[in-house]
Amino acid sequence: MVLGAGPGGYAAAFYAADLGKKVLLVEQEKNLGGVCLNCGCIPSKALLHASGMIREAKESAHRGVSFGPPALDLDKLRAWKNSVVDKLAGGVSFLAKKRGVQVLRGRGYFEASRSLRVETPEGQQFVVFDKAIVAVGSKAALPKVFDLGNPRIMTSTEALEVAEIPEDLLVVGGGYIGMELGSVYANFGSNVVVVEALPTILSGADPDLVRPVLQSARKNFRELRFNTKVTQMSTKGKKIRVLTQGADKVEKEEFFDQVLVSVGRVPRHHDLGLENTDVQMDERGFIKVNDRQQTSDPAILAIGDIAGGVLLAHKATKEARIAVESIVGQPSTSTGVIIPAVVFTDPELAWCGLTEAEARAKGLEIDVAKFPWGASGRALTFDRTDGITKLVVDLATERVIGVGIVGPGAGELIAEGVLALEMGATVRDLAESVHPHPTLSETLMEAAEAFYGVSTHTFSPKKREE
Ligand code: FAD
Repeated sequence: MVLGAGPGGYAAAFYAADLGKKVLLVEQEKNLGGVCLNCGCIPSKALLHASGMIREAKESAHRGVSFGPPALDLDKLRAWKNSVVDKLAGGVSFLAKKRGVQVLRGRGYFEASRSLRVETPEGQQFVVFDKAIVAVGSKAALPKVFDLGNPRIMTSTEALEVAEIPEDLLVVGGGYIGMELGSVYANFGSNVVVVEALPTILSGADPDLVRPVLQSARKNFRELRFNTKVTQMSTKGKKIRVLTQGADKVEKEEFFDQVLVSVGRVPRHHDLGLENTDVQMDERGFIKVNDRQQTSDPAILAIGDIAGGVLLAHKATKEARIAVESIVGQPSTSTGVIIPAVVFTDPELAWCGLTEAEARAKGLEIDVAKFPWGASGRALTFDRTDGITKLVVDLATERVIGVGIVGPGAGELIAEGVLALEMGATVRDLAESVHPHPTLSETLMEAAEAFYGVSTHTFSPKKREE
């Protein structure tokens, strides 16, 4: 039995069925696909694409291609975005049927370690299983200070509905969700202010790679304010009155048409009946698992957001495979698995393996090789020389232990980094693999060449003996 049909749950159900198991997939929502498909990865990227075209059009006048002001039809935009979601959700349902995965619509509640009560629209059903995989995901955190019951205060779920384009939008939290959705609204014409409690946006990535994202956001947003906290919010007519406090401790009063709260996500562990099982949770409510996705209850495994770690769809999908392989007795583990991270801002930011900061904090003997996109022919052809491709290299073995890329398409390019790390590639492997010209993929090869001081399109004093 798989509880929850997000990218973790449906992938687990499909794989278990492919391996010959009898599978029941329990999902409370009408659509399969979870947060990712219905109110996460997919609709956000659709809106980023649609809104990004406006920005691109604005920035193309100096190339001799000018456009008039965009005409925005929000009903059409929503209909298009929803059609993308519906097409994919329909595809997931179709694939479930084809595999013989039985789907039960309803809310699941563990009555014991091997039984689940499901509240369906037709009444209660009771399910008994040999093994369960819990994949119930996470939801947006909404701290009390924001929880006024005012629809103008949105989480990402409401923001993705684009009910209107507010004139003034406050985004609380400069993580990837705040930066992506802030970009969508800024591209559509909102004055966006981002406040972030930490000293920078996208903490976790290396600062040299964050810089181009920050520079671009400074142009696109009205303001980015760091070391700043929202201390109070209240409704004032059609506006939201917001008090913020920065590092100087001076309180600032402002009024916004809408507020997007993107301060993190919390596990959906409430009302699951986990107390009727032997499953244990950590202090934040994430289910504790070992590196085989097993919980402390022998009948129950957990994957995806509910199992903590990085809250990303592809991490959920990978854990789905590990969990199913644990059940069928294969020796798979999550140890050493490379989970890339991508921020779909403009420019995109992506990294995998160790960041430079992480490698240095671990005290590893490393070197860093970078290739600036200003030296890439391909980047110049589409006028985007703000990118950087960076390799973190273990000096003793010359193995690539981290890759970071900022620039348009970084999310696609990072896959080569993942493969390099998974295969234990050395920096020479990357340098000697012929990359097609003119493409941005060459920046990975040239960064590797730069490690030896022999990058064709940059000049640096020879760093390494051949
Ligand atoms: P979920 O997708 O959360 O699915 C859990 C499912 O369980 C839901 O369908 C829920 O209805 C169901 N469920 C919960 N409780 C019960 C119950 N008791 N009974 C029955 N069903 C239940 N990740 C990326 O990798 N790339 C991105 O670009 C990206 N963009 C994002 C953008 C936004 C705005 C957001 C919010 C998230 C984004 N994410 C992205 C994160 C990604 O959506 C999650 O990491 C991913 O959905 C987690 O998958 P999951 O299977 O663990 O859970």
